[in-house]
Amino acid sequence: MLQNSPYEVHDPRFKTLFIGSIALEELYTGCRWAEGPVWFSDAQQLVWSDIPNQRMLRWVPDGGVSVFRAPSNFTNGNTRDREGRLISCEHGTRRVTRTETDGAITVLADGYQGKPLNSPNDVVVRSDGTIWFTDPTYGILSDYEGYQSEPEQPTRNVFRLDPGTGSLSVVVSDFVQPNGLAFSPDETKLYVADSGASHDETAARHIRVFDIRGDGTVSGDRIFCDIDTGIPDGIRVDVHGNVWSSAADGVHCFSPDGTLLGKIKVPQTVANLTFGGPRRNRLFITATQSLYAIYLTTTGATWPR
Ligand code: MG
Repeated sequence: MLQNSPYEVHDPRFKTLFIGSIALEELYTGCRWAEGPVWFSDAQQLVWSDIPNQRMLRWVPDGGVSVFRAPSNFTNGNTRDREGRLISCEHGTRRVTRTETDGAITVLADGYQGKPLNSPNDVVVRSDGTIWFTDPTYGILSDYEGYQSEPEQPTRNVFRLDPGTGSLSVVVSDFVQPNGLAFSPDETKLYVADSGASHDETAARHIRVFDIRGDGTVSGDRIFCDIDTGIPDGIRVDVHGNVWSSAADGVHCFSPDGTLLGKIKVPQTVANLTFGGPRRNRLFITATQSLYAIYLTTTGATWPR
C-alpha cells in the first residue's frame, strides 16, 4: 500500500477492487463545483460540468483540458443515450436536453403538468432508450447554480421520459431531494440517492433501491444504505453490482447487499463520478474544485460507455 493510501478497507471484499500501489491522480483543478462527468469511449474524452462557472469542460488523455460548452445554462448531470448523444440536465433553463450529432440542442423535457420542472439534476438512460432523471430544487435555491425561483412542482420527483413519444411519467415522488441515480447491471433495480440532509441535518442522507417492473414503474422501495460522512450525490454501479457513491470524504463502495466495503479518500467533497478510460477501469471523480481519477480492478456497468 502507498504511504498515504487513499484506500480505507471496511470489508475484506474491498481489497479485490483496487491495487494498493495505485494513487489518486488530480487531473485538473480550477472549478467552483465540478459535477456531471460523462465518458465518451469513441472520442476517448471526459466531459464534465462546472456548474457555477456556467461551463462544461473536456479532458483528453494527452491534450489536457479545454472548454466544451460555455455558457452551459448551469448544466449539472450528463450522460449519453444509446445512440451516443449527450443528454444533459440544465439548472438555468430547468430542462433536460439532447445534443444532436450536428451540435443542435433538442429539448426533451422542461415541464410537467403545465408547470416548469424544479431543476433537473442527474440522468441515466436505460437500454430501452428511456431517460430517467431527478428533479430536486438545488438549481433554483439561489443565483449561484442557476436562477433563484419558487418551485412550481409540488414534489421533487424521479421522472421517466420516453423520448420516442415525449411521454413523461413520475416514477417516485416522495424524496426530500432526489439526486444521483443508477441501474443495477441487469437493469432490474434502480438506485436513487436522497441528499435532503444538505439543507436539513435531520433529513435523508441515504440511497434507496427499487425493483423495476416490466412497464417501467417501480416497487419494493427500501433503503439500500446510509452515507456516514456528508451526503450521497452522484452514484455509479460496477459490473459486479457494487454501488459507488459520492460522499464528503471521498467515494464509498457498497456491495449489492448494501454493506460498506470501503472508501477511496478524496481531498475534496465528491459530487459525482463515472467509469471511463479505454478499459473502463478508471474512475473519474468530480470533487468540488478538481477532477480526479483512479484505476481500479473493476469496470463500470452498462451505460454510458
Ligand atoms: Mg447531483
